[in-house]
Amino acid sequence: MLPPELIAEFAAIVGAAHVHSQPAQLLAYSYDGTFQQRVPDLAVTPGSTEEVAAVVRLCARERLPMIPRGAGSGLAGGTIPVSGGVVISLTRLDRILETDRANRVAVAEAGVVTARLQAEVEAVGLFYPPDPASLNQSTLGGNAACNSGGPRCFKYGVTKDYVLGLTVVLADGRILRCGGKVLKNATSYQLTQLFVGSEGTLGVITELILRLRPLPRVRSTALALFERLDDASATVTAIVAAGILPATLELMDGTTIGVVEDYLGLGLPRAAEALLILEQDGNDEEVTAREVERMAALCREHGAVEVRIARTPAERNDLWQARRAVSPALGRLRPNKLGEDVTVPPAAVPALIQRVRAISEEVGLPIPVFGHAGDGNLHPNILFDRRRPGELGRVERAATAIFRAALALGGTLSGEHGIGTLKRDFMVEDVGPVGLDVMRAIKRALDPQGLLNPLKKLPPTDEPARSGFLSALPSLEGIIPDTGHPAFAEAGA
Ligand SMILES: Cc1cc2nc3c(=O)[nH]c(=O)nc-3n(C[C@H](O)[C@H](O)[C@H](O)COP(=O)(O)OP(=O)(O)OC[C@H]3O[C@@H](n4cnc5c(N)ncnc54)[C@H](O)[C@@H]3O)c2cc1C
Repeated sequence: MLPPELIAEFAAIVGAAHVHSQPAQLLAYSYDGTFQQRVPDLAVTPGSTEEVAAVVRLCARERLPMIPRGAGSGLAGGTIPVSGGVVISLTRLDRILETDRANRVAVAEAGVVTARLQAEVEAVGLFYPPDPASLNQSTLGGNAACNSGGPRCFKYGVTKDYVLGLTVVLADGRILRCGGKVLKNATSYQLTQLFVGSEGTLGVITELILRLRPLPRVRSTALALFERLDDASATVTAIVAAGILPATLELMDGTTIGVVEDYLGLGLPRAAEALLILEQDGNDEEVTAREVERMAALCREHGAVEVRIARTPAERNDLWQARRAVSPALGRLRPNKLGEDVTVPPAAVPALIQRVRAISEEVGLPIPVFGHAGDGNLHPNILFDRRRPGELGRVERAATAIFRAALALGGTLSGEHGIGTLKRDFMVEDVGPVGLDVMRAIKRALDPQGLLNPLKKLPPTDEPARSGFLSALPSLEGIIPDTGHPAFAEAGA
């Protein structure tokens, strides 16, 4: 709890209604999409970049940790106030300032919910492709801070490919404006990109200039079922080799199919080891449909036992039902899950899935795998029951083995969720000691007091991860349901 006179100083900046210091209020800023929880000393909801800057200056003066927060949907513990301090919630910065059709860009504040921007630009024939499954909750600032992706990113790229400019409040309260509406910019260091993916450790993003594309007019979808996972993987390789660039190439493994079938009863064959959802978009109905037919033919050639093609929007919706149901379906199997996010070179996807299966058997926990097969970004979800003694230790063994399997295959720890607290202790194994040195030098230059989102992304030492890293994470067991916020239950991870 901070002294009342200091709380009054925060109130003088943002208004008393936007300072949250009561225990019940602080709980609302204590969690994210993981099972970690810790209450901050204070939370504030500033209403402008200038107010954010004044809050940051006050925190810097008082040496208080500052934790930028969007919707709190993160899956890496990035917004958990592990060191206490002040949560700076950006949700009141929710204005879409401009949809500039001539330059094909949008300018929006950091607290705008992703889906709202998408709907607004689509209404005038434009398109903002990054589509995290949390898009109805997550904010543009959070998306940029995590460099978020989604099913469409194989064809269209991730958030970093759309951020042209940023307004960022630095750790000392100065306001940096970098980039702009220009599509090419070789002038400064790539400062805009430095803040994308920085997970709130280098500055507080308050405004974004985002690149848009023309909205594709038509979309065509197919679903294919395979008895053998290897056949599905060979199909993905064949589609890429055929020069097709699908808008979406999603994969679910056999365990996931079984769990979804138990939940929805869609008639998916339980013997199937893999399911692919293939989608193409474009402007010509015939060309788009033909590309989906070509992909469907490749599926059959490579052993698909069943291929369904959607002819109407309602049928398309049906095909997506299985994928959308994954998250709630997993919750029925075990009360807790650790959703991982490793990425490997696309051709290594089958090897990673086989390894995850072996790990699942070794530790005795179900680990369904699904994700974005086209870009090699997979979500092995380790399912567990935290109440069972020793289970967290098994989760830890599984997570460690999955990280190391991905790295051994030339992959990386995170494709779209970021590092936060969950994967921080494995960073040295991914980026190496020199990479960490460079990251720490950047951190020191921009945040010499180390107050911006401390203990996230950067490990305190170069020591490899030790056992007990999961149980050491903060949690307020029993106070909030540990499956996360109910609003996220319907979204697929
Ligand atoms: C059901 C579910 C499905 C999901 N699906 C996907 C998916 O498909 N793809 C994907 O990429 N992610 C997914 N996520 C993860 C999450 O939604 C994304 O990481 C999202 O971008 C986080 O946005 P947020 O506004 O909730 O950020 P928060 O969770 O509030 O914060 C996340 C991180 O960003 C920092 N941050 C937030 N706002 C700012 C800011 N303005 N300035 C500086 N730093 C900031 C925080 O400090 C923290 O480190 C999913 C999550 C859930 C719960």
